[in-house]
Amino acid sequence: MSAQPQVQGLATPAAVVTHYIDGRLVPAGSARRQPVYNPALGRPIREVVLADGADVDAAVKSARAAQPAWGRTPALTRARVMFRFRELIVQHAKAMAKTLSEEHGKTVADAEGEITRGMEVVEFACGAPQLLKGEFSESVGTGVDSFGIRQPLGVVAGITPFNFPAMVPMWMFPVALVCGNAFILKPSERDPSTALLIADLLKQAGLPDGVFNVVQGDKVAVDAILQHPGIAAVSFVGSTPIARYIQEQAQQHGKRVQALGGAKNHAVIMPDADLDAATEAIIGAAYGSAGERCMAISVAVAVGDATADALVERLARRVATLKVGAPDAPGVDMGPLVTDAARERVRGYIDSGVGEGATLVTDGRDVRVAGCEQGYFVGPTLFDRVRADMRIYREEIFGPVLSVVRVPDFAAAVKLINSHEFANGTAVFTRSGAVAHAFVRDIEVGMVGVNVPIPVPMAFHSFGGWRSSLFGDHHMHGPEGVRFYTRLKTVTQRWPEPESVRADFVMPTMK
Ligand code: NAD
Repeated sequence: MSAQPQVQGLATPAAVVTHYIDGRLVPAGSARRQPVYNPALGRPIREVVLADGADVDAAVKSARAAQPAWGRTPALTRARVMFRFRELIVQHAKAMAKTLSEEHGKTVADAEGEITRGMEVVEFACGAPQLLKGEFSESVGTGVDSFGIRQPLGVVAGITPFNFPAMVPMWMFPVALVCGNAFILKPSERDPSTALLIADLLKQAGLPDGVFNVVQGDKVAVDAILQHPGIAAVSFVGSTPIARYIQEQAQQHGKRVQALGGAKNHAVIMPDADLDAATEAIIGAAYGSAGERCMAISVAVAVGDATADALVERLARRVATLKVGAPDAPGVDMGPLVTDAARERVRGYIDSGVGEGATLVTDGRDVRVAGCEQGYFVGPTLFDRVRADMRIYREEIFGPVLSVVRVPDFAAAVKLINSHEFANGTAVFTRSGAVAHAFVRDIEVGMVGVNVPIPVPMAFHSFGGWRSSLFGDHHMHGPEGVRFYTRLKTVTQRWPEPESVRADFVMPTMK
């Protein structure tokens, strides 16, 4: 058994966040750069380098050199690296959450929750020997056995969004690595430091150099990844227009692709629901992480006017108690949005909702946070009487804005949701088993909750939406993740008995 690597501390983010290739940080040099902000303070705190084609090529070269030996390493040994990585994540979760929160703006507690959800995929990946067991049929013909094995694709890449800088990469690389691939991560340029902390811990866990690389950057890096002939597959999570682009480009360049896009998640509140419980659930799901979650509830569909009136009254009361503030301050429910541009976009949507005639119950446009006057804050905002033709209903806002839509009955709620462009997650709040059953059966959405507001599947199930929320065939992690990061080889074998075999010119059948 190999010796346990010595556990070190967690690196602190450098003034210039750079690439990580072949097991080491690449000197920043004179590469293009852009500032990385602390959104609570509204000022730059460091810079990130932006890769060009040569940087991506260097990462692919390193990954291609390392992958064959890694791919031949027994799955159990690969899993043991993940076991050690999992222990290191637990040990350093608080420090990692602090850096993540500083660049993203979500509360430190929320950042720790994100790391835990990502770590669960690491735990799933530790089952690699079981996950890769394959299938076997004895005697498919006389003296003939057949078996299927799943083999790695080679070098694969992940392109990830700003809103989960730890969890979304962890949806991808643990599964890709234990399946025997080398992985290149292109994190969001808005919060790039967490990726380097992950790289550091993977190295400490004993992952060979070159098997995991990080390339920082923007569209230039993404295009270089999409066009590089040495990359076999691309996983993407981000907004829908980019997801669509990624799928088209990756396919054009002959790559396997899974591209998860944007969302507009509806929660249906039936007249028989426990309204107090539903209100609490919706408040957390709508305003947690300032609404910057792909599984945030952004539309509450109230069935019947009496339900709507009671729900809006409760929501408004509860919204008034939410604490907006610095993400590391105690008792804060919501931090800032990620950038000034994001804040302006969300304020613009609130203006548009007012202009289109929705009822603005609570307005978060002018929230002020003492000590963080320059921060990118928008307070929790609640609209009632939102209609399906309004922009605030049709488009993804990705901020702390909840819209209440009133519908007459359950059938209208299902029809509304099934007509929306996005179909990532949804939920129903009811006490009726029959309604819940009909909802699960009839709703055309990838992830469904029954009295559960954010039905994010556990790591051993798979994550993904329908329609414009996912392009490509495979959902992420769980069994679908293993399928995505492997290709199936089916072997039919005969070890001939001593008598001779004659050539056969008709289509082979197992006699
Ligand atoms: P984004 O689409 O702007 O960026 C995602 C990634 O694509 C980043 O790494 C970015 O550098 C890159 N990118 C940006 N513009 C590009 C371009 N023109 N060409 C090539 N690459 C480009 O998304 P974001 O703002 O970072 O994240 C928020 C979005 O992600 C929201 O729409 C949210 O719903 C979505 N999201 C979806 C899921 C899901 O599971 N479906 C999960 C998390 C986030």
